[in-house]
Amino acid sequence: MRTLVIDHPLVTHKLTALRDSESDTATFRSLTAELVTLLAYEATREMRVQPVSVTTPVGMASGVKLAGPVPLIVPVLRAGIGMLEGMTRLLPMAEVGFVGLRRDEESLVASTYADRLPTDLTGRDTFVLDPMLATGGTLATVISMLANRGAASVTAICLLAAPEGLRHVEAAFAADEVRVVTAAVDERLNEKGYIVPGLGDAGDRLFGQI
Ligand code: URA
Repeated sequence: MRTLVIDHPLVTHKLTALRDSESDTATFRSLTAELVTLLAYEATREMRVQPVSVTTPVGMASGVKLAGPVPLIVPVLRAGIGMLEGMTRLLPMAEVGFVGLRRDEESLVASTYADRLPTDLTGRDTFVLDPMLATGGTLATVISMLANRGAASVTAICLLAAPEGLRHVEAAFAADEVRVVTAAVDERLNEKGYIVPGLGDAGDRLFGQI
């Protein structure tokens, strides 16, 4: 596994505004979309391409196009849905699968309640959207689901990560074609499993407390 922390002034600027508890839902949503697009730019850097040539108004130009099969984007319900628009802006041709995991508030262990993924992912690049890499339990489960179905690569895009979560995923997928792309690695998790200083509950800030 590889971890990529995107150290770019625009990313840090937007992340700082996102963390601010004064940012309202509308601001939080649009900042999330913008931040995801910036992270996605780096997350898609290793996508495979094939050579093509096109006719311009004044001649022939050699270029590339993304090689098939089409990538799969996997937002983790519910907060990952808030990241989808920012990702599809860059990969409008991608398919979208959904996974839902519920975290037990006592044990912090995640269990699957929704699995809308293709059964065969042979050769496909996959991108998991989960804003907060906290304990790593959810992400490790989703990565296993994708790897077991034959995904060629799994790249997780997380707005924020905790060191504990990164260690968990790293231990589970040390030798695999797995990458985590994030805007920052924060200090730690608190006793309730929240990232400190973090940004609070990403799902609540995106969609309200329902
Ligand atoms: N999920 C969140 O929404 N926030 C955290 O800090 C940790 C997990």
